[in-house]
Amino acid sequence: MNQEIELFNKLVTSLLRDDKEQPVVKPIPPEQLFQTLDLDLEDDAISEAQFEEILTTLVSKTPKTGNIKFFNQLFGGRQPKAILGDLLAVILNNSMYTYKVAGPQVGVEKAVLRKVAQMIGYPETADGTFPTGGSLSNFMALVMARDRVGREVKEEGVRQELIAYTSEDSHYSNFKNASFAGIGRNNVRTIRTDDHGRMHAPELRAAILEDLKNGKTPCFINATAGTTVMGAFDPIHELADVAEEFGLWLHVDGAYCGAVIFSDKYKHYVEGLERSDSFSFNAHKMLGTPLTCSVVLVKDREHLVHSFSNEADYLYQTADDEFNLGKTSLQCGRRNEALKLWSLWKSVGTSGLAKIVDKLFELAEVARKYVADHPDYTLYTYRDSLSICFNYKGIDPRVLCTNLYTEGELMVGYGSFREDEFVRLVAVNAINTKEDILNFFTTLENFVDAHDLVESELVNTKG
Ligand SMILES: *Cc1c(COP(=O)(O)O)cnc(C)c1O
Repeated sequence: MNQEIELFNKLVTSLLRDDKEQPVVKPIPPEQLFQTLDLDLEDDAISEAQFEEILTTLVSKTPKTGNIKFFNQLFGGRQPKAILGDLLAVILNNSMYTYKVAGPQVGVEKAVLRKVAQMIGYPETADGTFPTGGSLSNFMALVMARDRVGREVKEEGVRQELIAYTSEDSHYSNFKNASFAGIGRNNVRTIRTDDHGRMHAPELRAAILEDLKNGKTPCFINATAGTTVMGAFDPIHELADVAEEFGLWLHVDGAYCGAVIFSDKYKHYVEGLERSDSFSFNAHKMLGTPLTCSVVLVKDREHLVHSFSNEADYLYQTADDEFNLGKTSLQCGRRNEALKLWSLWKSVGTSGLAKIVDKLFELAEVARKYVADHPDYTLYTYRDSLSICFNYKGIDPRVLCTNLYTEGELMVGYGSFREDEFVRLVAVNAINTKEDILNFFTTLENFVDAHDLVESELVNTKG
């Protein structure tokens, strides 16, 4: 391995240098990709020198998500302690299904789950797992809700017309998951949101009553803590009242902003979380661990076991089932995703995680204030959101974002809420400083000036 570790160091060193000198890579048009890079696979081996050259080029042409100019998605930046943990997980290469194979790494995962459960006010019966992302966390929650409807559902399949409820601004995985779970996309009710993008509880209640009247079986409510576009927080207490009234499973999808639980200052956004049946968050979003690091917690472990355990003599040969994590996971072989979060958390403490969360809200406030104070901008975001949505001088956001990307200036995306479409700057990159946020706007404004982007010229290019 020595040779590879040396090469790895060399590649990483130049990547980190490039991150400063050339933070945004000019994209290769997809139709030229295979002519530009030597990606095709051949019968013969290549020399070490050729191998190094190809890897060097490949790394340098890959979009950079770890630096100060990446605002494109709900992840970004680098947490060095989390990266160290993840690199160790690769070298150790355990599979998390049994204690025999993962040993103390099982303890690493359990320690994270236990601590999160405690922090959100779940009882001793709580447990959880690390699925491959927020979408699959939502899926596991839905499957547990489905299987709770009747103990026979798991064996016989879904016979009732089950209904799930989620807001119109919730993540698209809710619809995919309903089809995977045998519930069907048409049996997901999209509940209207208010002007701030929060689910409207009275409307939810009305929808449930209507379904009951029509002989359907409501089973699942998905609340969102940080909607994907606007970063809105659904009112958990109000939704929990409805869930309790009808005996439905309440899941809180905190993939984007669930990590507010780590901050005393911001955890009130998820007030009432202890009343939910399950909760998930992505540490690879706000906390900045490498992809993917998603945690799902369930109030009562029994549901996790009921829905996901299966006997397998060839696998489970030692130890208590509580330490054989394969009994409560979606996968069989499973990567160690817990170590990166544990490494970060262990080294900086809960107070260090709180600092990350607080800093993101500060950065968002810098951006929100800048946009609000400058008349050339239109602001679409409400306070307390990490997504700063805006338009500049009426320029089509699609054109602006695409040009910034193809010219190698900034990585930022666009989104929409109701009839408005806008640029969405996401403040989830904790390595950014306030200056980096202000530089974002300077870069954007200079770019618009230099390219003479004006509204009238751009409207037609909207694709
Ligand atoms: C990102 C996101 C998801 C999906 O998480 P993945 O890890 O990308 O699967 C689900 N819900 C919300 C609210 C999100 O923002």
